[in-house]
Amino acid sequence: MEKKTVSLTPDHPDAIQTVELLQRRWLTENTFEIELTRPPALQFIPGQTIRLIHESIERYYSLLSAPNDQSLALCVYHVPRGNFSPFLADAQIGARFSLSGPHGYFIFNPSSRQPVFVATGTGIAPFVSMTRSGVTDFTLLHEVEIAEDLYYQDIFREISKKYVPCLLYPSAADPSPPDTFHGKAAGFIENNLPPANYDFYLCGERQMTHDVTLLVDQHFAGSYVFKEVFY
Ligand SMILES: Cc1cc2nc3c(=O)[nH]c(=O)nc-3n(C[C@H](O)[C@H](O)[C@H](O)COP(=O)(O)OP(=O)(O)OC[C@H]3O[C@@H](n4cnc5c(N)ncnc54)[C@H](O)[C@@H]3O)c2cc1C
Repeated sequence: MEKKTVSLTPDHPDAIQTVELLQRRWLTENTFEIELTRPPALQFIPGQTIRLIHESIERYYSLLSAPNDQSLALCVYHVPRGNFSPFLADAQIGARFSLSGPHGYFIFNPSSRQPVFVATGTGIAPFVSMTRSGVTDFTLLHEVEIAEDLYYQDIFREISKKYVPCLLYPSAADPSPPDTFHGKAAGFIENNLPPANYDFYLCGERQMTHDVTLLVDQHFAGSYVFKEVFY
């Protein structure tokens, strides 16, 4: 029998390529954006991820950039005492990483149903990439702890059909922005989303994807669910 071989050329998603850290910008006390050089052969669809590798540790990150951008951008939560994200938070500009990609299938599929994007924390990243590449007319729920964590809200207020910040711990010292829902995104969906057929795109915390999927089963027959679990 003929033996099949797969060569790991640069356009193969599993090929390991080297990239360089160009910039880091802190969005909040614990979340930052990084910009990396882009291997010329790396083409991706908004919503896809890359795998970063350093020594024996590897982690996946959703691409924040648009497919035509010159560089690659990521939005990363600094996990206290984490194994990899603190390293990304501290790496020197010019540091080199190994990367593979693109990976994953969490991409936008236009349909006759209304898109509802639901993100917790950095789960917003794929929706930024989709928006930057021209996706419009969606509802977006962004569940975060406090108002300061609503990074990218300017983009979504301008482009989305409806943008709903979902604040878990609103505080008097940190006034809630317009249209804020106080509570989990699942609570907004259960109590405020009108009955209709939707395409739900869920990204971020496993518990949120679980809770929203149950609600869709109970209240939104005829809707579809697409998920990307980060943590
Ligand atoms: C497909 C995919 C895409 C991902 N995309 C992103 C992304 O775009 N941005 C990003 O920050 N992370 C993303 N992650 C998570 C990322 O791969 C790492 O798990 C994360 O950076 C933590 O790694 P660590 O080694 O620092 O922490 P670890 O030592 O592995 O500690 C894990 C702990 O961190 C928590 N945690 C992991 N990720 C997050 C997060 N984003 N926000 C809050 N708590 C978290 C987990 O609940 C767990 O308690 C993605 C994961 C997957 C599977």
